[in-house]
Amino acid sequence: MYKSPIVIIGAGPAGLMAAQHLAENGFEVHIYEQNKAAARKFLVAGHGGFNLTHNESITDFITRYDKSELSPIIKDFDNQDTVQWLHDLGIDTYVGSSGKIFPIKTIKPIHVLQAWLDKLNSLGVTIHYEHTFQDFVEDTVFLKHKEDIVAIKYYKLILALGGGSWQKTGSNAQWIPILKSKNIHIKPLEAANSGYNTKASFVDIEGQIVKNIEIRFNEIRKKGEVVFTTYGIEGSPLYYLNRFTRATAFPFTIYIDLKPNNSEQQVQKEIASTKNITKALKEKLKLNNATIQLLKKLPKEAYTNPNLLAQYIKNYPIEVTSFRPIDEVISTAGGILFEELNPSLNLRKYPNIYCLGEMVDWEAPTGGYLLQACFSMGQFAAKHIVKSQIITE
Ligand SMILES: Cc1cc2nc3c(=O)[nH]c(=O)nc-3n(C[C@H](O)[C@H](O)[C@H](O)COP(=O)(O)OP(=O)(O)OC[C@H]3O[C@@H](n4cnc5c(N)ncnc54)[C@H](O)[C@@H]3O)c2cc1C
Repeated sequence: MYKSPIVIIGAGPAGLMAAQHLAENGFEVHIYEQNKAAARKFLVAGHGGFNLTHNESITDFITRYDKSELSPIIKDFDNQDTVQWLHDLGIDTYVGSSGKIFPIKTIKPIHVLQAWLDKLNSLGVTIHYEHTFQDFVEDTVFLKHKEDIVAIKYYKLILALGGGSWQKTGSNAQWIPILKSKNIHIKPLEAANSGYNTKASFVDIEGQIVKNIEIRFNEIRKKGEVVFTTYGIEGSPLYYLNRFTRATAFPFTIYIDLKPNNSEQQVQKEIASTKNITKALKEKLKLNNATIQLLKKLPKEAYTNPNLLAQYIKNYPIEVTSFRPIDEVISTAGGILFEELNPSLNLRKYPNIYCLGEMVDWEAPTGGYLLQACFSMGQFAAKHIVKSQIITE
């Protein structure tokens, strides 16, 4: 048994992954979690498809992140390692049509989590629930448990406290003032993988999906589908756009190409081929009802003029006014700056303390990239602790 204990705060995917690798390598590991249950956001991520990673070459994979510091970390434990790790837990996976990797259909998110918790239990990892991180000094961390403050000695401390969305899952970013008081620089959290509020109202087409479109903002383009809502628009190409629009002040205009596989001339020709515009849109251009309703919002002179209408079909403008509220978005950007961390993810100012997962300042689109980074960071920090222990032995 190596020097111990390793104390991990936060029983989300990043913390649990670090715990597994450390316990497999002979460390005594204690996880402290403020909720009464582990990994609530991990379970939420499973609503509507548990997209655990993505099937693409590692060269493409690492380009999905906004911070190059993550590249060696993701390469060290990559998407194929995640698939193997899941397989070892008894969770088989399949690759969906868009390249996203999911557990096979009969396996529910709770089954994945339970298999993982069983594995940790078999390795001797203890999870202490209802313990809330309060403060730390060089070798001791302080946690609130019910009405008491408990002091826990650590050999290494791993903080894996998450970002700031979906507070009801426990990711409430209450760690920010604690780390700030230790002079750790933190970029303010912002909505990421967020829909946009729009100036125009789409209440009449709320819930309707327009598929096979391309979103454009300056030179950035992303294909996919959008969903119209009571407040604006949602959808993975918009989430992808988030980081590129972040530096631009609201309001600004994004454009939807509603027929990305056709040129403007082709679109114009199809519209002009019959006198009934709506019939041409439906039958020649195969646009669905939601798209036609969207186009009917244009001034009448645009809808009835094939040249103008073709221009709008290729460049439908949407003025966006803000991101959605931070609590309802899929993830947050911002967090502990990489400059505060050594490459092995421990704090430069407190080398015995590691920071992992969404609490660090990086962002990525949906598609399994968020969880993959959390898994990879957990592995990376744990491997560093194992290696440093072997060297000092
Ligand atoms: C609706 C939704 C859908 C998503 N879908 C996907 C998806 O399909 N694919 C994907 O890759 N990602 C998805 N994500 C994102 C993914 O779930 C997160 O990025 C990931 O869970 C972050 O992991 P983490 O370990 O860093 O933090 P978290 O999962 O947030 O875990 C942090 C843990 O720390 C605990 N904690 C926080 N503060 C304290 C404290 N002060 N004291 C003690 N404990 C504390 C929390 O209670 C929590 O258990 C989704 C997220 C949401 C909200």
